Amino acid sequence: GGAGTASTTRQVKLEKESELRIEVANDTPLRLRLLNGTAEIFGTELPPQIWLTFPPHFKFAVFTWYGATIEMDGSTETDYTADETPMVSYVNVHAVLDGRRNQAKASPESSQGPRVIVVGPTDSGKSTLSRMLLSWAAKQGWKPTFVDLDIGQGSITAPGCIAATPIELPIDPVEGISLEMPLVYFYGHTTPSQNVDLYKALVKELAQILERQFTGNAESRASGMVINTMGWIEGVGYELLLHAIDTFNANVVLVLGQEKLFSMLRDVLKSKPNVDVLKLQKSGGVVSRSSKFRQKSRSYRIREYFYGIANDLSPHSNIANFNDLFVYRIGGGPQAPRSALPIGADPVANPLRVAPVNFDRDLLHVVLAVSYAQEPDQIVSSNIAGFIYVTDIDLQRLDFVAFDLLDAFYCVICW
Ligand code: ATP
Repeated sequence: GGAGTASTTRQVKLEKESELRIEVANDTPLRLRLLNGTAEIFGTELPPQIWLTFPPHFKFAVFTWYGATIEMDGSTETDYTADETPMVSYVNVHAVLDGRRNQAKASPESSQGPRVIVVGPTDSGKSTLSRMLLSWAAKQGWKPTFVDLDIGQGSITAPGCIAATPIELPIDPVEGISLEMPLVYFYGHTTPSQNVDLYKALVKELAQILERQFTGNAESRASGMVINTMGWIEGVGYELLLHAIDTFNANVVLVLGQEKLFSMLRDVLKSKPNVDVLKLQKSGGVVSRSSKFRQKSRSYRIREYFYGIANDLSPHSNIANFNDLFVYRIGGGPQAPRSALPIGADPVANPLRVAPVNFDRDLLHVVLAVSYAQEPDQIVSSNIAGFIYVTDIDLQRLDFVAFDLLDAFYCVICW
């Protein structure tokens, strides 16, 4: 790999049930098209002959069930073909889920389709498997709900959030999930250990809202859910997985790439006969990402929110008065001094406490989430409308504009 240059195009012939694994070069995009045969990228079929452009650093695979010829134009970090993939086992899972959706649709009593939760360590391919299951389902006309609980590398919106959205069409291989009206809850950190209670509270809120939506919508109820989770599977991370399985009433647990996690979950879920726990092989194509790379892709995701994936959005800038904005922080905040507490009590902050944040220079370069809450005490239970980025703080004025990238963000702004 890596031999290509921008001026050379080359063709790759793929045998049936094999894939072309590609990491796009660090500085230039890659163009690729399907010349003949049929092929898909993570569950979404490629249109014949049409050039697609993949941005630098992009990591993906073009898989074919029956054979295909692919043409590439541009340079890659690596590209190679692999004929050993777990795709047959993945599509078999899809077939079983599809059967359950049909059953749900046909029977008015048990009209709930499969609620699938995908778990496994970091870099086991959870997001990718979730995506395939969703795209294959959408291709067959279902409208499954995608729930993303991964606050570190979420694929629905900016990092630091949990979110859900219906998937009505196979997911675009380059653009990702098209967002009509995602349901987003703002957590504000990229690790759940920062505030475990808040994370659980938000998961519960999201589950309750979806439950309510399902009640009135037979189609999405029968289509079910695919829930993507974090790669943190030890200790509190494991507790949070159990919490998610329970809270969403998941009935299919797919464990990727870890025997130990599989046997732990199988044992603990034995008491629930309607929950199936399945072990699936991790794909050899999944690329491990360093913490530096994760950090970068988080910044990139925030940038993408404001500018669009192809730099086609221009953020709207605005100036507002201190009096017109209310900024709050959830959890943390100043604790009661020890002297104000009964003897022996520890000054623990209430993790769900909503505290006002003063306007000062600390707010500069912070990303704030805009809450639908009407009152501060509704903030934890409210979803958000979007984000703003603070570019300037004046003595009397606040200037909000989407401009740069950052990593620390923790505030909720309420209107
Ligand atoms: P985490 O939870 O740690 O964020 P994950 O388990 O969800 O990660 P993915 O995001 O699915 O893992 O995969 C990691 C990276 O590997 C992604 O960039 C994805 O596009 C890439 N990848 C997955 N499968 C393949 C494959 N078969 N060939 C090439 N690249 C792949």
